[in-house]
Amino acid sequence: MNIAVIGAGPAGMMAAIQAAEAGGKITLFEHNPNLGRKLLVTGSSRCNLTNDAVEASAYFCEDQAWMETFLGSFGVEEFRRALDNLGIPTRKTDDGWYYPWSQSAQSVVEILEEALLARGVEMRVATHVIGFVQSGNTFILETTSLGSRQFDTFDQIVVAAGGKAYPELGSRGELFGALEQLGHRVESLLPALGPIFAELGAFSELKGQRFDVSASIWQGQTRLGQSAGNIIINQDGFNGPGVMNLSHLVALHPKEDLTLQLNFIAPFWSDFADTLTGQIANPRSLRAGLLRYFTPKAANFFIRRANLNPETRLRDLTEDQIRQLLGVTAEARFSITGAGSFRNSQVSVGGVPVGEVDPRSMESKVVPGLYLTGETLNAAGPCGGFNLHFAFGSGHLAGAHLAGLQKQKSKERV
Ligand SMILES: Cc1cc2nc3c(=O)[nH]c(=O)nc-3n(C[C@H](O)[C@H](O)[C@H](O)COP(=O)(O)OP(=O)(O)OC[C@H]3O[C@@H](n4cnc5c(N)ncnc54)[C@H](O)[C@@H]3O)c2cc1C
Repeated sequence: MNIAVIGAGPAGMMAAIQAAEAGGKITLFEHNPNLGRKLLVTGSSRCNLTNDAVEASAYFCEDQAWMETFLGSFGVEEFRRALDNLGIPTRKTDDGWYYPWSQSAQSVVEILEEALLARGVEMRVATHVIGFVQSGNTFILETTSLGSRQFDTFDQIVVAAGGKAYPELGSRGELFGALEQLGHRVESLLPALGPIFAELGAFSELKGQRFDVSASIWQGQTRLGQSAGNIIINQDGFNGPGVMNLSHLVALHPKEDLTLQLNFIAPFWSDFADTLTGQIANPRSLRAGLLRYFTPKAANFFIRRANLNPETRLRDLTEDQIRQLLGVTAEARFSITGAGSFRNSQVSVGGVPVGEVDPRSMESKVVPGLYLTGETLNAAGPCGGFNLHFAFGSGHLAGAHLAGLQKQKSKERV
């Protein structure tokens, strides 16, 4: 069998490695000169591969049942085993985020490259796939490399060309047109997992400070979404997983007045409540109480915003004073002015609806012999390894299915 895999990101590399397990001729096309350009920058170059919290409901995906079937075939344990088999053992942080033992995305890419070479995958890098069409039971792929055009015929094609996020790393959504021509739907692509821009007001004093928060986005009285995690305050607003998980909601409501609400005390709420009511740290000052959780700069800021005296003893705080403090620490509200574009958002949402492929093999239900994987499909997860899980996992299932088909064909020939 002659198989083309388009795109050498996590989905494409994994698909090619698995498909090559059964021999056959596998060709991997990549328009960058090197493999895994985006994978190299993931997890701040440490490659956050998956997460204990991976489950269907964690993904922004219109078809939860599809996602459940997919994860039933390729959950965290299956993924870790597949990585282990390739020589990429993983370990997790206290909060359940998995990284390779090496903590190096570069090591992961080099191991995958060696696995591709060892299995005889032909790698055509610096080769741009212009498009593909179906011709009977085969596909004709049009490519260009060093100014010369070429047409090749394949029995099966795996599309692993990503979405539209971080275009300078290689994925620009250029093959969605070819998929539409073959009869697939393509839902509009929007940037996700990017910064949220907002009017900071007095909070601009806290530029550069990091907090663990709970964050919600409101449209009037309606809460559009909620997230929790680390954030950093910067020049124009906020960045970090705690807000990035919500940025697609801003992209989805470009013309609405939206508000970001941050709760700076949510992660230690019960301890904070005990502190304020004097059960902990009594008889320390209000300032000392806040220094349990915040930097001196942030503690001073919150006390000033609440119009309180830093020297007040905690046990002397009145109910009104406690309410004032909670107002500024638990219910800070900011007018949203925008969110990151494709240029600075980690993934895109949109693409081909997952329901158009089989969740166990990634084979198209519209065009047999065509496989769609990774960010080309309309499924995106929050920060924390959910997207690499989906990219590697969908690539693995497509490749394993193709290897199975090849084994079956060889048996039939005997
Ligand atoms: C800064 C950053 C940090 C991230 N960190 C994490 C993280 O820690 N954990 C996590 O889970 N996710 C993370 N992500 C998201 C994750 O990287 C993506 O979801 C994932 O890479 C998608 O994999 P993919 O194989 O579908 O697509 P991609 O990784 O985008 O790979 C697609 C490949 O196809 C190639 N290609 C595209 N079109 C063509 C064409 N026409 N011809 C030839 N080649 C083509 C591209 O050059 C690219 O190499 C991060 C993303 C960014 C930008």
